Amino acid sequence: MDTIMLNNGIEMPGLGFGVFQITDLKECEDSVLAAIRAGYRLIDTAACYGNEQAVGEAIRKSGVERSEMFLTSKVWIQDSGYEKTMRSFEKSLENLGTDYLDLYLIHMPYGDYYGSWRAMEELYESGRIKAIGVCNFEEDRLVDLILNHRVMPAVNQIELHPFCQQKKLRKVMEKYRIQAMAWAPFAEGRDGIFKEKGLTEIGNSYKKTPAQVIIKWLRQNGIITIPKSIHEERIRENSAIDDFELSEAEMAAIDGMDRGESLILKIRSLEEVYRLHDIRFVQ
Ligand code: NAP
Repeated sequence: MDTIMLNNGIEMPGLGFGVFQITDLKECEDSVLAAIRAGYRLIDTAACYGNEQAVGEAIRKSGVERSEMFLTSKVWIQDSGYEKTMRSFEKSLENLGTDYLDLYLIHMPYGDYYGSWRAMEELYESGRIKAIGVCNFEEDRLVDLILNHRVMPAVNQIELHPFCQQKKLRKVMEKYRIQAMAWAPFAEGRDGIFKEKGLTEIGNSYKKTPAQVIIKWLRQNGIITIPKSIHEERIRENSAIDDFELSEAEMAAIDGMDRGESLILKIRSLEEVYRLHDIRFVQ
């Protein structure tokens, strides 16, 4: 699988495997093992997913060297702030059974994320994290964070799929060479995305599924993505995208599917602020 160079010179796989909502630990371990067998080397987890240990176990069982894997985790709102982020980071390492992270992200732009960023800058500068970044930062918060700190975020992981393309935010990110990483590339299956007419027609001409067309469209746009599945055949399907190329007209047709707003996470809504602050867990 191809790689992308981040703004700090670190090489990151362009396609990875996400484990959000795989709460059954055996299922998570099996899915990550299937992904590694299929050739994925980037695994995206988070403290709040409750499955870091299963990810670590799968990597050990796979026999693939840690140095060949690219591990991402995230600090949750309850652990925002300098001290708590330091503790949560150590716990993530312990859970994953590793002594460094490839990428560590602030999960939500809520709480004392400035304190979190200062902790992450230190961990990055000491070499315990290869790259640091954020998730779900809209352009104003992103630029404010940049203007007040030393280390430029390498990545912004955001909701990004054909129905929500984040065009304005991506322009700002390009200016600072912040890599876009798409979560929910399939919009979590919402609004009939796997049966969408335009995606199906494009796919048919290459004997590819709408899922494969979406992943290809993201990759041709230079966007890293991390589709999730608990089914081995889909895990393989989602990575079998190297034997076709979308034309300019096909890329433009998918660009035209943008609705200009999020389907899943309304980061500025008060309901979301309350809902996400209510998510608490023992790491
Ligand atoms: P997603 O990848 O867009 O969609 C996953 C859904 O699509 C699952 O229901 C899966 O079902 C189905 N699926 C996968 N491949 C398929 C295929 N080829 N054909 C038909 N159905 C298919 O959603 P996501 O898991 O929310 O996003 C991906 C990753 O992004 C997460 O796992 C997580 O790592 C990350 N994420 C980050 C944030 C953040 O705030 N930073 C938020 C959400 C997600 P099965 O599993 O049953 O196959």
